[in-house]
Amino acid sequence: MKVKLLTYTPEPIKTLYTSARTCYSEEAPDDIWEKDIPLEKMHALIDKVINAGHHSVLEHISFTFAIEGISRSCSHQLVRHRLASFSQQSQRYVIVDEESFVIPSTIMASDELLNKYKALITEIHKTYKFMLEQGIPAEDARFLLPNATTTNVVMTMNFRELWHASVLRLCYKAQWEIRDMFRLIRKEVDKVIPGFARYLQPTCITEGVCYEINPCQEMEHYLKRRNETTE
Ligand SMILES: Cc1cc2nc3c(=O)[nH]c(=O)nc-3n(C[C@H](O)[C@H](O)[C@H](O)COP(=O)(O)OP(=O)(O)OC[C@H]3O[C@@H](n4cnc5c(N)ncnc54)[C@H](O)[C@@H]3O)c2cc1C
Repeated sequence: MKVKLLTYTPEPIKTLYTSARTCYSEEAPDDIWEKDIPLEKMHALIDKVINAGHHSVLEHISFTFAIEGISRSCSHQLVRHRLASFSQQSQRYVIVDEESFVIPSTIMASDELLNKYKALITEIHKTYKFMLEQGIPAEDARFLLPNATTTNVVMTMNFRELWHASVLRLCYKAQWEIRDMFRLIRKEVDKVIPGFARYLQPTCITEGVCYEINPCQEMEHYLKRRNETTE
Protein backbone atom coordinates (compact mmCIF):
# COMPACT_ATOMS: atom_id res chain seq x y z
CA MET A 1 0.00 0.00 0.00
CA LYS A 2 1.20 3.49 -0.85
CA VAL A 3 -0.30 6.84 0.16
CA LYS A 4 0.90 10.17 -1.19
CA LEU A 5 -0.49 13.61 -0.45
CA LEU A 6 -0.77 15.03 -3.97
CA THR A 7 -1.92 18.52 -3.09
CA TYR A 8 -3.63 20.55 -0.39
CA THR A 9 -4.95 24.07 0.24
CA PRO A 10 -1.98 26.46 0.42
CA GLU A 11 -1.39 28.11 3.81
CA PRO A 12 -3.85 25.77 5.56
CA ILE A 13 -3.35 27.07 9.12
CA LYS A 14 -3.65 30.70 8.00
CA THR A 15 -6.79 29.83 6.01
CA LEU A 16 -8.39 28.16 9.04
CA TYR A 17 -7.34 31.00 11.34
CA THR A 18 -8.69 33.71 9.00
CA SER A 19 -11.99 31.85 8.61
CA ALA A 20 -12.41 31.40 12.37
CA ARG A 21 -11.25 34.91 13.26
CA THR A 22 -13.66 36.49 10.74
CA CYS A 23 -16.58 35.18 12.83
CA TYR A 24 -15.48 37.14 15.90
CA SER A 25 -13.81 40.21 14.40
CA GLU A 26 -14.83 43.61 13.07
CA GLU A 27 -11.86 43.42 10.71
CA ALA A 28 -12.31 42.33 7.10
CA PRO A 29 -11.05 38.82 6.28
CA ASP A 30 -8.51 40.28 3.88
CA ASP A 31 -7.00 42.43 6.68
CA ILE A 32 -6.87 39.44 9.05
CA TRP A 33 -5.09 37.43 6.33
CA GLU A 34 -2.40 40.11 5.91
CA LYS A 35 -1.49 40.16 9.63
CA ASP A 36 1.58 38.34 10.86
CA ILE A 37 0.00 36.09 13.53
CA PRO A 38 2.28 33.67 15.46
CA LEU A 39 1.66 30.00 14.64
CA GLU A 40 0.78 29.08 18.27
CA LYS A 41 -1.89 31.78 18.35
CA MET A 42 -3.41 30.45 15.13
CA HIS A 43 -3.38 26.87 16.50
CA ALA A 44 -4.99 28.10 19.74
CA LEU A 45 -7.95 29.57 17.85
CA ILE A 46 -8.32 26.41 15.74
CA ASP A 47 -8.38 24.34 18.97
CA LYS A 48 -11.02 26.69 20.34
CA VAL A 49 -13.38 26.30 17.37
CA ILE A 50 -12.90 22.52 17.45
CA ASN A 51 -13.73 22.36 21.17
CA ALA A 52 -16.70 24.69 20.67
CA GLY A 53 -18.12 22.43 17.93
CA HIS A 54 -17.82 25.25 15.37
CA HIS A 55 -16.69 22.69 12.84
CA SER A 56 -17.85 24.31 9.60
CA VAL A 57 -14.68 26.44 9.82
CA LEU A 58 -12.69 23.25 9.16
CA GLU A 59 -14.26 22.87 5.72
CA HIS A 60 -12.17 25.68 4.20
CA ILE A 61 -9.11 23.52 3.59
CA SER A 62 -8.84 20.22 1.76
CA PHE A 63 -6.35 17.45 0.99
CA THR A 64 -6.01 15.22 -2.09
CA PHE A 65 -4.33 11.82 -1.69
CA ALA A 66 -3.13 9.20 -4.17
CA ILE A 67 -3.86 5.80 -2.64
CA GLU A 68 -2.29 2.80 -4.34
CA GLY A 69 -2.56 -0.95 -3.84
CA ILE A 70 -5.29 -1.19 -1.22
CA SER A 71 -7.72 -4.10 -1.40
CA ARG A 72 -11.26 -3.70 -2.68
CA SER A 73 -12.28 -4.68 0.83
CA CYS A 74 -10.50 -1.58 2.16
CA SER A 75 -11.76 0.72 -0.59
CA HIS A 76 -15.33 -0.41 0.07
CA GLN A 77 -15.01 0.82 3.66
CA LEU A 78 -13.30 4.02 2.53
CA VAL A 79 -16.04 5.09 0.12
CA ARG A 80 -18.62 4.90 2.91
CA HIS A 81 -17.29 8.35 3.87
CA ARG A 82 -19.90 10.29 1.94
CA LEU A 83 -18.48 13.77 2.27
CA ALA A 84 -15.22 12.86 0.53
CA SER A 85 -14.65 12.79 -3.26
CA PHE A 86 -13.28 9.66 -4.92
CA SER A 87 -11.96 8.55 -8.30
CA GLN A 88 -11.32 4.80 -8.33
CA GLN A 89 -9.63 2.57 -10.91
CA SER A 90 -12.37 0.83 -12.88
CA GLN A 91 -12.55 -2.95 -13.31
CA ARG A 92 -14.65 -2.29 -16.42
CA TYR A 93 -11.72 -0.63 -18.21
CA VAL A 94 -8.66 -2.10 -16.48
CA ILE A 95 -7.97 -5.84 -16.67
CA VAL A 96 -6.81 -7.16 -13.30
CA ASP A 97 -3.55 -9.13 -13.33
CA GLU A 98 -2.82 -12.19 -11.22
CA GLU A 99 -0.34 -10.44 -8.91
CA SER A 100 -2.77 -7.72 -7.84
CA PHE A 101 -4.10 -8.93 -4.51
CA VAL A 102 -3.53 -8.24 -0.81
CA ILE A 103 -2.58 -10.99 1.65
CA PRO A 104 -3.57 -10.36 5.30
CA SER A 105 -0.72 -10.98 7.76
CA THR A 106 -2.83 -13.58 9.64
CA ILE A 107 -2.84 -15.73 6.50
CA MET A 108 0.77 -14.89 5.65
CA ALA A 109 1.81 -16.34 9.04
CA SER A 110 0.90 -19.90 8.04
CA ASP A 111 2.52 -21.64 5.05
CA GLU A 112 -0.42 -23.99 4.75
CA LEU A 113 -3.06 -21.24 4.73
CA LEU A 114 -0.95 -19.02 2.48
CA ASN A 115 -0.60 -21.79 -0.11
CA LYS A 116 -4.34 -22.46 -0.07
CA TYR A 117 -5.07 -18.72 -0.40
CA LYS A 118 -2.68 -18.26 -3.33
CA ALA A 119 -3.91 -21.43 -5.05
CA LEU A 120 -7.52 -20.22 -4.94
CA ILE A 121 -6.57 -16.78 -6.28
CA THR A 122 -4.63 -18.41 -9.14
CA GLU A 123 -7.68 -20.56 -9.92
CA ILE A 124 -9.99 -17.51 -9.87
CA HIS A 125 -7.67 -15.65 -12.24
CA LYS A 126 -7.51 -18.61 -14.63
CA THR A 127 -11.32 -18.58 -14.89
CA TYR A 128 -11.39 -14.75 -15.09
CA LYS A 129 -8.97 -14.82 -18.04
CA PHE A 130 -10.90 -17.67 -19.67
CA MET A 131 -14.11 -15.63 -19.46
CA LEU A 132 -12.39 -12.63 -21.09
CA GLU A 133 -10.98 -14.87 -23.86
CA GLN A 134 -14.52 -16.16 -24.48
CA GLY A 135 -15.65 -12.58 -25.11
CA ILE A 136 -17.29 -11.95 -21.74
CA PRO A 137 -17.02 -8.18 -21.06
CA ALA A 138 -14.64 -7.16 -18.27
CA GLU A 139 -17.59 -5.65 -16.37
CA ASP A 140 -19.06 -9.17 -16.10
CA ALA A 141 -15.86 -11.26 -15.78
CA ARG A 142 -14.92 -9.14 -12.73
CA PHE A 143 -17.80 -10.70 -10.78
CA LEU A 144 -15.35 -13.53 -10.06
CA LEU A 145 -12.67 -11.32 -8.48
CA PRO A 146 -12.13 -11.48 -4.72
CA ASN A 147 -12.22 -8.67 -2.13
CA ALA A 148 -8.42 -9.09 -1.95
CA THR A 149 -8.00 -7.55 -5.43
CA THR A 150 -6.00 -4.34 -5.28
CA THR A 151 -7.24 -0.96 -6.45
CA ASN A 152 -6.06 2.65 -6.77
CA VAL A 153 -8.03 5.67 -5.59
CA VAL A 154 -7.63 9.44 -5.62
CA MET A 155 -9.42 10.87 -2.60
CA THR A 156 -10.13 14.46 -1.59
CA MET A 157 -11.36 15.30 1.89
CA ASN A 158 -11.85 18.65 3.51
CA PHE A 159 -10.34 18.89 6.99
CA ARG A 160 -13.66 18.39 8.77
CA GLU A 161 -14.17 15.07 6.97
CA LEU A 162 -10.51 14.04 7.26
CA TRP A 163 -10.68 14.65 10.99
CA HIS A 164 -13.95 12.71 11.35
CA ALA A 165 -12.74 9.76 9.25
CA SER A 166 -9.38 9.67 11.08
CA VAL A 167 -11.11 9.52 14.47
CA LEU A 168 -13.07 6.47 13.29
CA ARG A 169 -10.40 4.72 11.25
CA LEU A 170 -7.38 5.22 13.52
CA CYS A 171 -9.28 3.52 16.34
CA TYR A 172 -8.11 -0.02 17.15
CA LYS A 173 -11.68 -1.21 16.53
CA ALA A 174 -11.31 -0.27 12.85
CA GLN A 175 -10.09 -2.96 10.44
CA TRP A 176 -6.28 -3.21 10.13
CA GLU A 177 -5.94 -2.28 6.45
CA ILE A 178 -7.95 0.94 6.60
CA ARG A 179 -6.24 1.75 9.91
CA ASP A 180 -2.82 1.32 8.23
CA MET A 181 -4.04 3.54 5.39
CA PHE A 182 -5.09 6.34 7.75
CA ARG A 183 -1.75 6.06 9.58
CA LEU A 184 -0.03 6.77 6.25
CA ILE A 185 -2.46 9.63 5.53
CA ARG A 186 -1.65 11.11 8.94
CA LYS A 187 2.11 10.81 8.24
CA GLU A 188 1.74 12.50 4.86
CA VAL A 189 -0.15 15.44 6.35
CA ASP A 190 2.33 15.72 9.20
CA LYS A 191 5.25 15.95 6.73
CA VAL A 192 3.94 19.16 5.14
CA ILE A 193 2.02 20.76 8.02
CA PRO A 194 3.97 20.16 11.23
CA GLY A 195 1.71 19.97 14.28
CA PHE A 196 -1.36 19.13 12.23
CA ALA A 197 -1.31 15.39 12.92
CA ARG A 198 -2.34 16.01 16.53
CA TYR A 199 -5.89 16.59 15.27
CA LEU A 200 -5.97 13.25 13.44
CA GLN A 201 -6.28 10.82 16.35
CA PRO A 202 -8.95 8.63 17.97
CA THR A 203 -10.93 10.06 20.90
CA CYS A 204 -9.16 7.81 23.47
CA ILE A 205 -6.06 9.92 22.83
CA THR A 206 -7.63 13.36 22.32
CA GLU A 207 -10.46 13.14 24.89
CA GLY A 208 -9.60 10.10 27.03
CA VAL A 209 -13.00 8.72 26.03
CA CYS A 210 -14.01 5.71 23.95
CA TYR A 211 -17.41 5.71 22.25
CA GLU A 212 -17.15 2.06 21.12
CA ILE A 213 -19.59 -0.41 22.71
CA ASN A 214 -16.73 -2.81 23.49
CA PRO A 215 -13.53 -0.80 24.00
CA CYS A 216 -10.32 -2.45 22.81
CA GLN A 217 -7.57 -3.76 25.09
CA GLU A 218 -5.50 -0.66 24.40
CA MET A 219 -8.31 1.58 25.68
CA GLU A 220 -8.67 -0.48 28.88
CA HIS A 221 -4.92 -0.20 29.48
CA TYR A 222 -4.97 3.48 28.63
CA LEU A 223 -7.81 4.25 31.05
CA LYS A 224 -6.17 2.14 33.78
CA ARG A 225 -2.89 4.02 33.37
CA ARG A 226 -4.80 7.31 33.33
CA ASN A 227 -6.64 6.43 36.56
CA GLU A 228 -3.39 5.31 38.19
CA THR A 229 -1.75 8.64 37.45
CA THR A 230 -4.71 10.69 38.72
CA GLU A 231 -5.09 8.71 42.00
C1 LIG B 1 -15.21 0.22 13.47
C2 LIG B 1 -16.24 0.37 12.39
C3 LIG B 1 -17.12 -0.65 12.12
C4 LIG B 1 -18.10 -0.51 11.14
N1 LIG B 1 -18.95 -1.55 10.88
C5 LIG B 1 -19.92 -1.42 9.94
C6 LIG B 1 -20.86 -2.48 9.66
O1 LIG B 1 -20.80 -3.54 10.28
N2 LIG B 1 -21.78 -2.29 8.71
C7 LIG B 1 -21.89 -1.11 8.00
O2 LIG B 1 -22.78 -0.98 7.16
N3 LIG B 1 -21.01 -0.10 8.24
C8 LIG B 1 -20.06 -0.23 9.18
N4 LIG B 1 -19.18 0.82 9.40
C9 LIG B 1 -19.30 2.03 8.57
C10 LIG B 1 -20.05 3.15 9.33
O3 LIG B 1 -21.35 2.76 9.66
C11 LIG B 1 -20.09 4.43 8.49
O4 LIG B 1 -20.81 4.19 7.29
C12 LIG B 1 -18.71 4.94 8.11
O5 LIG B 1 -17.85 4.88 9.21
C13 LIG B 1 -18.82 6.36 7.60
O6 LIG B 1 -19.05 7.19 8.72
P1 LIG B 1 -20.08 8.39 8.80
O7 LIG B 1 -21.37 7.97 8.24
O8 LIG B 1 -20.05 8.95 10.18
O9 LIG B 1 -19.29 9.46 7.99
P2 LIG B 1 -19.36 10.21 6.60
O10 LIG B 1 -20.15 9.53 5.56
O11 LIG B 1 -17.94 10.43 6.35
O12 LIG B 1 -20.10 11.53 6.98
C14 LIG B 1 -19.56 12.46 7.91
C15 LIG B 1 -20.66 13.00 8.79
O13 LIG B 1 -21.56 13.75 7.99
C16 LIG B 1 -22.87 13.59 8.49
N5 LIG B 1 -23.67 12.95 7.43
C17 LIG B 1 -23.24 12.39 6.28
N6 LIG B 1 -24.27 11.96 5.55
C18 LIG B 1 -25.38 12.22 6.27
C19 LIG B 1 -26.75 11.98 6.06
N7 LIG B 1 -27.22 11.37 4.97
N8 LIG B 1 -27.64 12.37 7.00
C20 LIG B 1 -27.21 12.99 8.12
N9 LIG B 1 -25.91 13.25 8.41
C21 LIG B 1 -25.01 12.86 7.48
C22 LIG B 1 -22.78 12.71 9.73
O14 LIG B 1 -22.65 13.54 10.86
C23 LIG B 1 -21.50 11.94 9.50
O15 LIG B 1 -20.90 11.47 10.69
C24 LIG B 1 -18.19 0.69 10.37
C25 LIG B 1 -17.30 1.74 10.65
C26 LIG B 1 -16.34 1.59 11.64
C27 LIG B 1 -15.37 2.73 11.89
